Amino acid sequence: MNTEPIKDIVIVGGGTAGWMTAAALATVLNGRYNIRLVESDEIGIVGVGEATIPMIQRFNRVVGIDENEFMRETQGSFKLGIEFVNWGRLGERYMHGFGRLGQDLATLPFDQYWQKMRAAGKAAPLEQYSITRMAARAGKFMPPRFDVQNSPLRDINYAYHFDASLYAKYLRKLSEARGVVRIEGKITRATQRADNGFIDAVELENGTRVEGELFIDCSGFRGLLIEQTLQTGFEDWTHWLPADRALAVPCESAPAITPYTRATAHKSGWQWRIPLQHRTGNGHVYCSRFISDDEAASTLLANLDGKALADPRLIKFQTGMHKQAWNRNVVALGLASGFLEPLESTSIHLIQSGIQRLLDFFPDRGWSGVDRDEYNRQSRFDYERIRDFIILHYHLNQRSDSEYWKECANMAIPETLRHKMDMYRSRGRVVRVDNELFSEVGWIQVFEGQNMPIEGYHPLADTQSEEDIAEYLDSVRGVIAKCVEVMPSHDAYIAKMCAAK
Ligand code: FAD
Repeated sequence: MNTEPIKDIVIVGGGTAGWMTAAALATVLNGRYNIRLVESDEIGIVGVGEATIPMIQRFNRVVGIDENEFMRETQGSFKLGIEFVNWGRLGERYMHGFGRLGQDLATLPFDQYWQKMRAAGKAAPLEQYSITRMAARAGKFMPPRFDVQNSPLRDINYAYHFDASLYAKYLRKLSEARGVVRIEGKITRATQRADNGFIDAVELENGTRVEGELFIDCSGFRGLLIEQTLQTGFEDWTHWLPADRALAVPCESAPAITPYTRATAHKSGWQWRIPLQHRTGNGHVYCSRFISDDEAASTLLANLDGKALADPRLIKFQTGMHKQAWNRNVVALGLASGFLEPLESTSIHLIQSGIQRLLDFFPDRGWSGVDRDEYNRQSRFDYERIRDFIILHYHLNQRSDSEYWKECANMAIPETLRHKMDMYRSRGRVVRVDNELFSEVGWIQVFEGQNMPIEGYHPLADTQSEEDIAEYLDSVRGVIAKCVEVMPSHDAYIAKMCAAK
């Protein structure tokens, strides 16, 4: 173990990853380290990544972000889930919403009673038993009300949509106010110590040398330190997640800002729709083996809700992860650590969990191989479990209208996912391992939304009579419908909070 104390932390890159890291470290480390961030205006940021999952609320709390100010400054909106269109069969749609399903009845989770009643032909569609899904459909929003007992209003869970450039700007302002020093310039190379290969400085085009002991690589797909300098190696997952390009284009906002993301499957990929206050973000993620860029652009432009505000911008990527997120004295975060498709809006969360892990294993004085290995093990676990969840959406399609979807349905899948699918098929059970990100409810919604056949439900569901369960399901559905009725519209809620100081 090297025991030299760390004083200088250098963050390379100022996109969402760089500025989230800067804001979190400046807040938590409380001025005890020098934090500098190098970024290049000329290179710019990837500029996509505008939908999140509910854990982002925790990040905002830790760095002390005021929600009203945040929504104003980032032109944000609220997100109650993701609507998937055409993923099972053409013409079908389902909502993967946040928060729980139903209420407690007896020993089993809600979904098992629902499965029993569905088998008897006596259950309504699953989403009618969830307040967030019903509110999303109705264009309503409010935060949870923890002051009311036994009400679905307590179960509202939400995330945000925001403008990625405005978010980076906002976090920059906050970080600089807390002592982070920003250095503008293009890095031309990193230099390494002769004895251990650790990075000791990055050098800029203008000759400036920025030295440090801990380097956080947030340089995006380039992976300036983790790959270009340390040659860590990349594990390619294209055989499971074959999309390799995206075209992104903003368009005019629709009259009502929907409180959810939409992911519409096309012939050789899918299109996102992320509603913001000042515009709607759109993008077509596709596989270049199956469709040309021109055709992909035409599909994207033909499926906008409003007038396009720019030409589509092409982004190329490769799905997979770097073999180590922490190598020597470099920790890679954001796109520099790996890339999974944005289908479930998980990249920003992976930045957040990487920052949390860095703080958990903060090196301070010394570089422990044990800490680094544990960091890398946890990071791999996160990536692989999310990867499986995303593959499920592709693999579980029943579309026969294109070679792309047929290939996805027939591809070999990871063993970990195979096991999850086998367990669900058998009795509708979701096996959740350790702290994996997506909960049982998340998996159930995709399994059910995409028509996963099951052979039976949990035998203990038969300990309750059909009459009792029917009464229970009806009352859950009825109370949720009443709650949604009294919620304000999403537009009205945003307008009110943006007006508040
Ligand atoms: P970047 O934004 O690329 O930032 C890299 C930084 O490094 C920049 O500041 C750049 O100037 C700097 N830099 C690079 N090279 C140099 C150099 N030589 N010298 C100086 N500075 C340098 N995530 C989600 O959570 N939700 C989504 O909905 C979502 N959608 C996505 C859609 C697509 C098509 C893609 C590709 C990604 C999406 N993501 C999404 C991922 C998300 O965009 C990223 O996780 C997030 O933006 C973080 O990017 P970053 O900061 O790692 O990289």
